[in-house]
Amino acid sequence: MTKIKPQPGIMEIALYQGGASQLPGHNDVLKLSSNENPLGPPSSAMKAVAEAAAQLHRYPPTDHAELRAAIADLWSLDPERILCGVGSDEVLQIVIQAYAGVGDEIIFTEHGFSMYPILTHMAGATPVCVPEKNRVVDVDTVLAAVTDKTRLVLITNPGNPTGTVLPEGELERLADALPADVILVIDGAYTEYAEGFDGGAALAETRPNVLMTRTFSKVYGLGGLRIGWGYGPQEMIDVMRRIRQPFNLSGVQLAAAEAAAKDRDWLRTCVDLNAEQRSRLTDAVRQLGLACDDSSANFVLVRCADAAEADAADQAFKAAGILIRRVPGYGFPEGLRITVGDARQTDRVIAALTNWRTTG
Ligand code: PMP
Repeated sequence: MTKIKPQPGIMEIALYQGGASQLPGHNDVLKLSSNENPLGPPSSAMKAVAEAAAQLHRYPPTDHAELRAAIADLWSLDPERILCGVGSDEVLQIVIQAYAGVGDEIIFTEHGFSMYPILTHMAGATPVCVPEKNRVVDVDTVLAAVTDKTRLVLITNPGNPTGTVLPEGELERLADALPADVILVIDGAYTEYAEGFDGGAALAETRPNVLMTRTFSKVYGLGGLRIGWGYGPQEMIDVMRRIRQPFNLSGVQLAAAEAAAKDRDWLRTCVDLNAEQRSRLTDAVRQLGLACDDSSANFVLVRCADAAEADAADQAFKAAGILIRRVPGYGFPEGLRITVGDARQTDRVIAALTNWRTTG
C-alpha cells in the first residue's frame, strides 16, 4: 500500500465529462454538444493568430495590458480591475483557490456549471449544492444555506444547461444580503446572448464582494484557444493576480482575443444569428410537444417525459449524425441540451426531431 496521499478533496473529484466530437459511421457529424459558435472566430482573430505565431520564441507579456484595454473599451470597464485567464475556468479556479481552503464551504445551485464541484474539491473546500426553483436560482434558498464557513457563492447566469436568467434585481438582493466576507461570483459565460443583461458588470463595479467572469469561448468562437476574464473590486483582483501564473496566456491567445474584442460587428452578427435560430428551434421543439424554457444563451434545454424518452431522442439524433449533450449530471436525466447552430444546422436538428417524433 502506498503511503503517498493526495491532498484532501482530490479523491472526491469526478472527472469532467466533456462533449464527444466523434460519431463512428458518420463523416458529416454536426456537433451541437459544447455550445460552440457555428460561425467560428472572426477573420480578424485568425489573422492576429497568424501574426502572433511569428513570435513563438518570445515569452508573452505577463500584464495582458492590450487585451485588458480592449475588453475595458468594449464593455466600458476599468482595465485595472480585469484579470485574464486560461478560459473562465482558470479565473474561477484562481478566485476559489485564493479565498477558500480546507474547512470552508462554497455554495452553488443544483443546475450550476459542472466545474464548480471540481474546483471546490481542488481547493480542499466543501461543496454545498442547493436546489433551484423551476429551473431558476432562488435567492432565498441560497441565502438559507450560508453559514459562517461560507466563503463563496457561485451563480451561473444565464444558467447552463437551463438557459434561464436570474434578473439583475435578484442578483443585487443576493449580493447585498450576503455576509460582507462572502464573495458572490456571477459566471456570465453566456452573457452576450442574453438581451438586456450586463453579466453582473454593474454589481462587480459597485460592490466590494462581487466578481463577474466572462469568456471568449462562446460568442467570440475561440473555445479552442482558452481565454476568459474576470472583473471585480481592485482589492480582489490584486489578490488573484498574486497566484495567477505569470505566463498563463500565450501571445497567440492574447492576440486572438484582443482582435475579437475589437470586432464589434462580429459580436452583433453572432448574437443576432443565435437569437433568430434559437427562436426557430424553441418553437419547433414546443410544436412537437416537448418542454423547453425560453433560453437566454446559445443552447436550448429540451425536457423529455423521462430519461428513457431522452435516450430514444439521443439515439435518433445520433442516427442523423447529430451530437447533442445529455445532462444527467446537471440534474436533468430527461434533458437534451442542444447548441444553437446556423440556419442550415437548425434545419437539420428540426428535421431529426420531427422524424423521431412522427415515426420513431
Ligand atoms: N461557465 C459556464 C457556465 C460554462 O458553461 C463554461 C463552459 N462550458 C465555462 C464557465 C467555462 O468556459 P471557458 O473556460 O471556456 O471560458
